[in-house]
Amino acid sequence: MNGALALYLHWPICLSKCPYCAFTSYPVCSVNEARQKEIGVLLLRDLQLSMERISYSSIGSIFFGGGTPSLMSPSTIGAILNYLDKHYDLSDIEISIEANPATFSREYLSELKSLGVNRLSLGIQSFQDSELRFLGRPYDGYQALQAAHMVSEVFSNYSFDFIYGIEDQSLSSVQDNLTQAMQFGVPHLSCYQLTFEENTEFFRKKQTGKIRPIDIETEATYYKFIEDFLASYDRPKYEISNFAASGAECYHNLTYWRYGDYLGVGVSAHSRLTIDGAKHALAKSSDLFQWGALNPLWDEDVVLTELDQLEEILLMGLRTTEGVIDLDKKISPDIVESILSQDKLNFLRAQGLLKPDQLCLTDAGMIKLDSIVEFLCCD
Ligand code: SF4
Repeated sequence: MNGALALYLHWPICLSKCPYCAFTSYPVCSVNEARQKEIGVLLLRDLQLSMERISYSSIGSIFFGGGTPSLMSPSTIGAILNYLDKHYDLSDIEISIEANPATFSREYLSELKSLGVNRLSLGIQSFQDSELRFLGRPYDGYQALQAAHMVSEVFSNYSFDFIYGIEDQSLSSVQDNLTQAMQFGVPHLSCYQLTFEENTEFFRKKQTGKIRPIDIETEATYYKFIEDFLASYDRPKYEISNFAASGAECYHNLTYWRYGDYLGVGVSAHSRLTIDGAKHALAKSSDLFQWGALNPLWDEDVVLTELDQLEEILLMGLRTTEGVIDLDKKISPDIVESILSQDKLNFLRAQGLLKPDQLCLTDAGMIKLDSIVEFLCCD
């Protein structure tokens, strides 16, 4: 039997589709109430069937993500937690949910809390009306502020998400967003740079010149500002885009970055699981109807070689300020030595990209994460 498992549940419905979003999600107007209920039942069924196929002694964390899981009914969340509670000890684990500011009341948050949810991640993105409009978010700055108030009153462990690098966004607007966030004393923040993923409206607009992404220098200036500003509030970076007070780091996400096992259930959810001693990369179907048939349980199932795993370990671990830890417990030493030659490591250290005596990037190295992993893993 394997050790602890991180569990991710994907709720694929949102109020509307944000123009920069590449996640699998459906606008609520296209999914009637009966179908939403059915998706809730299927999600629980997917969880039950998936758990029966694998073997883990405990659950380390639960994360309701999406999509917009704050559109899930408390009865669906309750049924899922009830099922898990019958089989595992959930008394002391992190149970997180993502929430969109336009979707909940104080009563809803209190209900989540009484069901056992103990961490909430609020997707604010900005407190500025113009930026929210640009991002296609279905609320304004005032509603964002009200939502932040409610969350901070109901939960002690919570996070705010922001997006920076929005067209025409000034540094003072970035500062204003973070200043307002810190007035709540928020223990954890995620700050993501606006990206232009394929198959999104923003990607098409960028291709046709209707949106101008910010230039690299401005992006670097904003990132450095965020890092320094949040460090001055004792919310240092612990991952490229994540900042937290000591002890408020997201345990669930740390499991991904430390390359622990996780099960993702729901449409298009991904997993990394140990089955019969081998590490598998699995994915649920990204088609809602195919996924709903739950047969097969996974659309993709690939056994990862040690080399694949090493590449993933580096990509994940080097995102964090703790770097890659316990590599010798995950990959055989001969594979590690054959890939991570001292010459390559020394070269990166001489360039000031890798810290001495650790597999951990410097601030300068983190910005070049993808090319460093490629450099380390290619012959
Ligand atoms: S609310 Fe989140 S998941 Fe839904 S469309 Fe917007 S960014 Fe994507």
